[in-house]
Amino acid sequence: MTATLIDGKAIAETVKAQVKEGVAYLKSEYNLTPGLATVLVGERPDSRAYVASKQKSCAELGMNSFGHTLPADIPQNELLEIVQGLARDSQVHGILAQLPLPNHIDAEAILGAVPIEKDVDGFSPLNVGRLSMKNREPMFVPCTPLGCLQLIESTGTQIEGARAVVLGRSNIVGLPMAFLLLHRNATVTICHSRTRDLPDIVRQADIVVAAIGKTRFVPGDWIKPGAVVIDVGINEVPDATKKSGKRLVGDVDFDSVKEVAGFITPVPGGVGPMTIAMLMQNTLTAAQRAAGLLKP
Ligand code: NDP
Repeated sequence: MTATLIDGKAIAETVKAQVKEGVAYLKSEYNLTPGLATVLVGERPDSRAYVASKQKSCAELGMNSFGHTLPADIPQNELLEIVQGLARDSQVHGILAQLPLPNHIDAEAILGAVPIEKDVDGFSPLNVGRLSMKNREPMFVPCTPLGCLQLIESTGTQIEGARAVVLGRSNIVGLPMAFLLLHRNATVTICHSRTRDLPDIVRQADIVVAAIGKTRFVPGDWIKPGAVVIDVGINEVPDATKKSGKRLVGDVDFDSVKEVAGFITPVPGGVGPMTIAMLMQNTLTAAQRAAGLLKP
């Protein structure tokens, strides 16, 4: 069996087209342009690339982006003041502090300075807390898991009653992903670095979400035939055929898994574009709430 490819790029384009319409409506009817502030600390090339693509998407969709690129050695109090200023700025509807922040920065304090109504990444403890509770709505759901959920839904697979295995328990991907699936009535198992008998657990899954950051970690013989496999991982491997000398691969061994799974996301072109599309959607939502068009 060869899996059907889940085209994250195409699905993300559809989401972005809807967001673009929403932005145009806000501008013409309310003279309001949604604005996303990005806070980038240091020189990490991957972080720079992520922030640049988020700013590019803002421009494509007609949103404002306010970029703050700061030196790696910025003192904690200065960074905090910048974020607090963005929190007060009425032109800024969403604030994104690109993670990871340097070690000398207390990331918790910085994320804590982002007001919940501008927390478009959905990383604040209040948002995560609400997401983890029954019958409580977070203001924003973290972008990557929200995008993964839409990719799973795009396959038409019934999530209710399905067995889902989430590999990874980070605050930004694994944990919120597990809650989203649980709220859709899947039976969810969360695996991590201390999990025993990982292959046997993954083999039971109708839905697998891999978010561990380990190159091609999940082989085809761990996959239940027909399962939906969502590969969140972004790992660089050497590739002499590329100008850069490297390319990106996921946490899933695509070549063997695609022979067994029912659906699979590629890397790149799967989860990555959806993460950005969800960020744009969350920023539009923040602006719509600021205009009084949506209830918080
Ligand atoms: P973290 O490093 O924060 O978390 C990794 C998780 O994987 C941890 O929970 C860890 O377990 C678990 N883990 C590590 N090794 C194993 C193992 N051998 N077996 C089982 N579990 C293991 O990573 P993130 O969640 O931030 O990111 C995961 C991957 O997703 C990365 O490749 C990252 O680049 C990518 N990513 C992609 C995004 C996108 O838009 N496509 C967005 C965000 C991330 P433990 O808790 O026990 O340490």
